[in-house]
Amino acid sequence: MNTVLIFFITHWYLSLFSQSFFDHRYAAHRDFTMNKFWERFFYIFTYITQGASYMSPRAYAIMHRMHHAYTDTENDPHSPRHSKGVIDMMLRTNRIYLGILKGTIVPESQFTKLVPDWPAFDKFAVTYASSIFWTVLYVIFYINYAPNYWWFLLVPIHVLMGPIHGTIINWFAHKYGYKNFEMDNTARNLMPVDIFMLGEGYHNNHHKFSTRANFGYHWYEIDPVYWVILFLNMLGIIQLKKESKAFVENVF
Ligand SMILES: [Zn+2]
Ligand SMILES: [Zn+2]
Repeated sequence: MNTVLIFFITHWYLSLFSQSFFDHRYAAHRDFTMNKFWERFFYIFTYITQGASYMSPRAYAIMHRMHHAYTDTENDPHSPRHSKGVIDMMLRTNRIYLGILKGTIVPESQFTKLVPDWPAFDKFAVTYASSIFWTVLYVIFYINYAPNYWWFLLVPIHVLMGPIHGTIINWFAHKYGYKNFEMDNTARNLMPVDIFMLGEGYHNNHHKFSTRANFGYHWYEIDPVYWVILFLNMLGIIQLKKESKAFVENVF
């Protein structure tokens, strides 16, 4: 396999892992706890793996809690039901994310409780200068290893990796797929064995049991990030909460 393809696949899964493990299941849902050292470690890990599309875990978590609290209503930061199309939804999501990040949107206190925050780090990590730095690194890598210029079409995907992963769930998993549970929202499971989104695709299950660390419900709904959570819990790096193992409905 050529080097560029290996790099693309590695970046896809590492960036997705950071978003799922740190931003989503830790920062937004608090499915497990970790000490300050490991929290800073995973902050930096998230920055390196998300690179050009790094999102502030704090702003991500607040916006995501709003999504669970207001799913498919007008106050949902991203609902296909209230968007003209996928780009319209992405732009609205970005507007709300930036509003939270810059403080022009003041979130309700329920959305900021126990959210990890590292302002000194995010001060440079979320800048355009940082995104440009990572983009230049991607381009240099492609210049060195791409077999021909067609491969450069993948560079924009590296740059927009985080928003692309977000949109696959926020748009497609709210439109297409199957339901294990009937709820008053549009969340669906994208595929029965989620090998592309590391378990995030079981979005119908996740909306039903939002504090549960394992997003799979049926035996075949394998959730790779949950395996990593169990492993890190076994090593003592994180502490999986008892209630995260149980089925608890509709709490973020
Ligand atoms: Zn959702
Ligand atoms: Zn969630």
